[in-house]
Amino acid sequence: MKYDIIVIGSGPGGYIAAIRASQLGKKVAIIEKYSTLGGTCTNVGCIPSKALLDSSHHYYDAVNHFDTHGITIDAPKVDFEKMVARKANIVETTTGGIKYLMDKNNVDVFEGLGSFIDATHVKIAKNDGSEETIEGTNIIIATGSKPSTLPFISLDKERIITSTEALTLKEIPKHLIVIGGGVIGLELGSVYKRLGADVTVVEYAPKITPTMDADVSKELQKVLKKQGIKFATSHGVNAVERNGNEVIVKATDKKGRAIEFTGDYCLVAVGRKPYTEGLGLENAGVKLNERNQVEINNHLQTNISNIYAIGDVVEGAMLAHKAEEEGVVVAEYLAGQKPHIDYNLIPGVVYTWPEVAAVGKTEDELKNAGVDYKAGKFSMRALGRSRASGDIDGFVKVLADKATDEILGVHIVGARAADLIMEAAVAMEYRASAEDLARICHGHPTYSEAIKEAAKAAWDGKPLNA
Ligand code: FAD
Ligand code: NAD
Repeated sequence: MKYDIIVIGSGPGGYIAAIRASQLGKKVAIIEKYSTLGGTCTNVGCIPSKALLDSSHHYYDAVNHFDTHGITIDAPKVDFEKMVARKANIVETTTGGIKYLMDKNNVDVFEGLGSFIDATHVKIAKNDGSEETIEGTNIIIATGSKPSTLPFISLDKERIITSTEALTLKEIPKHLIVIGGGVIGLELGSVYKRLGADVTVVEYAPKITPTMDADVSKELQKVLKKQGIKFATSHGVNAVERNGNEVIVKATDKKGRAIEFTGDYCLVAVGRKPYTEGLGLENAGVKLNERNQVEINNHLQTNISNIYAIGDVVEGAMLAHKAEEEGVVVAEYLAGQKPHIDYNLIPGVVYTWPEVAAVGKTEDELKNAGVDYKAGKFSMRALGRSRASGDIDGFVKVLADKATDEILGVHIVGARAADLIMEAAVAMEYRASAEDLARICHGHPTYSEAIKEAAKAAWDGKPLNA
């Protein structure tokens, strides 16, 4: 069978590329080694983690906040099995939805491991042992990523686990030790803390979420600490040992002292690595870069001109929406259009509570680039909306160019930050100034008023409600 485009991998990058290519009149096949479509994001990433975050949030509210709202209930209990089953149902519905979209868009789905025979032929090794070869004028590699580990850690996937196992535990840990204070560590750490576990996050860098704005990291650590998560920053882990049901994490603190943490589970969340195993890239002559990512140019084209690569398997943020945008761009490029992605405007979100969201540059990035900027900050606790809901932690910070007032970065810690950040992304897409945002009428009472106020603080230094 011959196709215009073969997509290898059905994560958010791959399946969106397939839909867009089909919409533009291409004959498309997608190959997925697992029996369900949707990749990491849908099966073991974004969707299941958000399902558990939402469930655990409800429980946490019931235990800690209902009373302040004048709601008295008997002590709520967690039916963890039911919570995990609900998550599994959501995943099932979502993967089923992607299968429906493939059918609706006439995309042929092949289940099996795809590997290059040469630059235009891909072999599909099916789970029943049979093989099939298909031909593609163009091929898009969208094979995603897998969890990274540390060289001295042996993941037993039972008590020394990655995010994948952390989403399907049979019990709530008593003490979960998380190695890595990045996005996965903080999101899944929050889930289990809210459900009653002790959680200790051991982070190598001096601050959690090291790539985010320093103010954001500081505020986030403060509020998570208030929720009971313990942090050991500037701690280099050097061994993880298992002793029966106990897990011992050995680290060295910044003064060189040996520190031990003992728990019953250890979640290793130190990043993810591009996944190209079994893909036979060498048969097509596709090159990897020094970080083992598929090497691409500005058009997401590999060194072999008919082969493209997108998502976690290439450089850049490992985010579902980044993978999706790249999928659209490649499909449109192959259909003769001239699409473009502004990588500066890809928002980053952490689904803790309060949520964290950011778009554009951090203060450190602006300082390092020698940009003369001004900052306006507004505290969530000054909002009527925050007081009404009780979500008073966090702030909005708007960074703008000192000379032109153009918005260069927006950083939010606060309730619903994940959704709020899009106002900033739209503003920046249209190169709005801080004054523009400050002069837009915002509904009252809303959390979004903090963006208006922070923009006004950046523009003229005079927020109205502070
Ligand atoms: P993937 O989603 O990894 O999909 C690649 C697919 O290719 C897989 O299904 C794989 O089986 C298949 N494949 C690989 N090799 C072959 C082969 N040779 N043949 C056939 N099939 C193959 N991002 C967000 O933006 N928001 C979030 O809230 C978020 N939460 C996350 C939570 C967790 C716990 C994790 C682990 C990740 C999370 N991410 C989140 C990151 C997000 O999941 C990834 O950035 C995204 O899935 C990358 O998409 P992709 O299409 O590049 O690859
Ligand atoms: P990450 O890069 O966000 O965080 C890894 C953390 O581990 C970093 O803080 C790093 O300093 C730390 N670390 C590295 N080596 C260490 C060591 N030896 N000891 C202690 N700490 C160490 O990676 P992640 O949390 O594993 O997530 C992987 C990817 O998945 C990320 O790129 C992220 O974008 C994506 N993801 C996104 C979301 C979201 O968008 N909400 C959610 C989950 C995952």
